[in-house]
Amino acid sequence: MPFASVPPEASHRVALLEHVPTGELLIHEIYRSVQGESTFAGLPCVFVRCSVCDLRCRWCDTPHAFNRGERMSRESVLAQALAYNCPLVEITGGEPLLQPEVFPLMTELADAGKTVLLETSGAHDVSPVDRRVHIIMDLKCPDSGESHRNLWANLDLLKPTDQIKFVIASRRDWDWTAATIREHHLDSRFECLVGAVFGSVQPVELVNWLLDSGLQRVRFQLQLHKVVWDPSTRGV
Ligand code: SF4
Repeated sequence: MPFASVPPEASHRVALLEHVPTGELLIHEIYRSVQGESTFAGLPCVFVRCSVCDLRCRWCDTPHAFNRGERMSRESVLAQALAYNCPLVEITGGEPLLQPEVFPLMTELADAGKTVLLETSGAHDVSPVDRRVHIIMDLKCPDSGESHRNLWANLDLLKPTDQIKFVIASRRDWDWTAATIREHHLDSRFECLVGAVFGSVQPVELVNWLLDSGLQRVRFQLQLHKVVWDPSTRGV
């Protein structure tokens, strides 16, 4: 299956954030849906999707967030997210950690009593993230084209309640994932999640690889929103 085209160059995208003043964020969309991934899958969740990412995974399903967004004050983002009156809020992207205002925003959401999830590529230091936030961090597999960006030091900063996600596009990716989990004992330190790149690896293939591996504490996941809605639907 052809990978989604991923324009424009990462450096040009990150430059968009240089025009965002202190106190504001560049936001692609804020909406409510059900959580599609992680151990929180299936729960109603408000998504705050930040614009811009400095990676370009070959299979990225959110390239529309790369260079489009609306400047919003942090107060407005917080107010919109809270207006849904939903106990679960996820900060996602793009790459949220490129925007400094994300850090106080997550703290304010946690102060408001929300369970806060952060989806991050794993390429940026997670040490400034409020300890109440549940971090769902990718480790990029070789076929993403971005595995050289994995910031391995993050593994020592995560909490036992955080989650590591592997997106598998091939058998090579699976072999890398299984070896990485074993080398770093990830399945005894964190929740480990594995999912297939939609259209590249069949879910049944990945399930069989997982079962054959003998890894007992690694969780297979489907992207629920791609099952519930048409896979190309946005804002769900
Ligand atoms: S890190 Fe996420 S948003 Fe960025 S290119 Fe990869 S999949 Fe897309």
